Amino acid sequence: MKETINDNQPQGIHIVAKPIVLMCNLNCSYCFYLHKEDLLATKNNWRMSDEVLEEFIKQYIEGQDHDEIIFSWQGSEPTLCGFDFFKKVAAYERKHMGNKIIHNDLQTNGTLRDNEWCEFLREHNFLVGLSIDSPKELHDMQRKTKGGKPTFDKVWNSVELLEIYCFIRDEVKPRAIQFNACVEAKTFKEVAPPYWDSIEFPVLGSDAAKPGTSDSVVYN
Ligand code: SF4
Repeated sequence: MKETINDNQPQGIHIVAKPIVLMCNLNCSYCFYLHKEDLLATKNNWRMSDEVLEEFIKQYIEGQDHDEIIFSWQGSEPTLCGFDFFKKVAAYERKHMGNKIIHNDLQTNGTLRDNEWCEFLREHNFLVGLSIDSPKELHDMQRKTKGGKPTFDKVWNSVELLEIYCFIRDEVKPRAIQFNACVEAKTFKEVAPPYWDSIEFPVLGSDAAKPGTSDSVVYN
């Protein structure tokens, strides 16, 4: 049998874990999470249970040949899971890591940070991604609290607590910074599949179910 490059390479996967969905303390104008609750079967209890958390961590580590395993924690807003939840993350990782090296990263809106959180993130060496639409005027136009209040000053407080800019400038020394734009149609509620009339669903194997055909509903 012909040997492929992958035969000699460790096999790795990268999963972005969303331990809490649909809940956020903010109400950003362009948020694509907050109005998705209708798409889920359950109406509450959107936080990952401790049992699922431990099983996820165990299987994610066991399922990879790599020596280094990266956990990525996102949300909506993952810190809404609570400080104790992330202490359990660290404990389960320690329990199941064997001789692997574990890395964690966390994407947050930066409004729930305090010194205790920052100490924890530093102690466990989390790479923190902070969502900020700077400068202040632009950020505050879109990223508001549920009560419509601006959030830039709170987020900036987190920047200072986390010393993010110093870290990026002095240690990461990036040649480039990447921005991820996530957009969706304003008509999402009308055009998303769960809102389709069942008669509109493409039949498996038909042209409508394949990309590139004239009556396809699948985008290339
Ligand atoms: S912080 Fe993120 S999840 Fe929360 S409302 Fe803003 S975009 Fe949505």
